[in-house]
Amino acid sequence: MRTILTGNRILQPGGAVVSGSLIIEDGRIAALEPVRFGPGEVEGRHIDAGDRWVCPGLIDVHIHGAVGVDTMQAASPDGLEAMARFLAGRGVTAFLPTTMTAPAEDILRVLQALAGCTPKPGESEVLGVHVEGPYISPSRAGAQPPEWIRRPDPAEYAAWFETGAVRLMTVAPELPGALDLIRYGVQRGTQFALGHSEASPEQVRAAVEAGANQATHTFNAMPGLHHREPGILGAVLTDDRVFAQTIADGAHLHPIIVDLITRLKGTRGTLLVTDAMQAAGLPDGDYHLGSEPVFVRGGIARNARGALASSTLTLDQAVKNVVAFTGLSFERVAPMASETPARSLGLFPRKGALLPGSDADIVVFNEDLAVERVILRGEVLES
Ligand SMILES: [Zn+2]
Repeated sequence: MRTILTGNRILQPGGAVVSGSLIIEDGRIAALEPVRFGPGEVEGRHIDAGDRWVCPGLIDVHIHGAVGVDTMQAASPDGLEAMARFLAGRGVTAFLPTTMTAPAEDILRVLQALAGCTPKPGESEVLGVHVEGPYISPSRAGAQPPEWIRRPDPAEYAAWFETGAVRLMTVAPELPGALDLIRYGVQRGTQFALGHSEASPEQVRAAVEAGANQATHTFNAMPGLHHREPGILGAVLTDDRVFAQTIADGAHLHPIIVDLITRLKGTRGTLLVTDAMQAAGLPDGDYHLGSEPVFVRGGIARNARGALASSTLTLDQAVKNVVAFTGLSFERVAPMASETPARSLGLFPRKGALLPGSDADIVVFNEDLAVERVILRGEVLES
């Protein structure tokens, strides 16, 4: 089954915009033609996006849950089904379900459940798991349960990596053994994010040289920027090798800070994430994040200590927020949630691009920047 998607605003890498037709076959983009074919000119289903934005599918590399589902509860490959369906409808065509700081066997159980899982029709694709903690700084726990925070232990993490499901890991680089862990994981195709940390610039540089390539929710769960002690934040913001995960919900970061990050890191370095929990897509109420009770009021999630605990943000809303916070054009912002995450995982241009050979993961945004249509691995989602 062939689909022809024509439009005047098809996003290309780096924020370029072209007019033309995407020819979609067998789940891939077979061609991008510079002409807008009319109905019947090329055999197949014809969709005209007109002046709406045609973007690569969004990719969330940091998400704990949605619609009542929590990654820590995933006990089988089907455990995330409702979340994967919800995300697909919001234009998120691939994601990394994210674990919490927890006992070793709890993390292992999630990794085993999700290892090698293949997406079903209508479901966002699991690209692997983001293991957030437990190897983080006890003084920067944030919403991670402090009782399970510990130092990297090769006997423990070797079993996690053996599952083949660890795609990204958040680690505090100042911990003893952290650099060995990063080198070990990078050899196995895992990316590393630095976060929940009080690392010095020297410790950040050593971790990046060992292979780490991003910062976990930049500004959150790390010391603020000090002009004589720039710390992890100063190092992350000024190192072009580091992608800056950014939670643009308006609560985790003041809009001016989001603007600051995009000015320093650009489209290529600003990596939009939601850090969402199971209340995303649901009303205010009492929920859980891993084993911790979390209270959602006015869409903002806090734990019993009153600290921000994850979010209810969706990635399409994050894109809209960043356009509002920064005044940047949509074509500069949308790649921060599609092309940039794909690059950060080493998956570009198979993911995060609308190029011949790319997976046909496509989201169409209307003039109000709302998701209007989603194509998932070549399949047109019927809403
Ligand atoms: Zn998180």
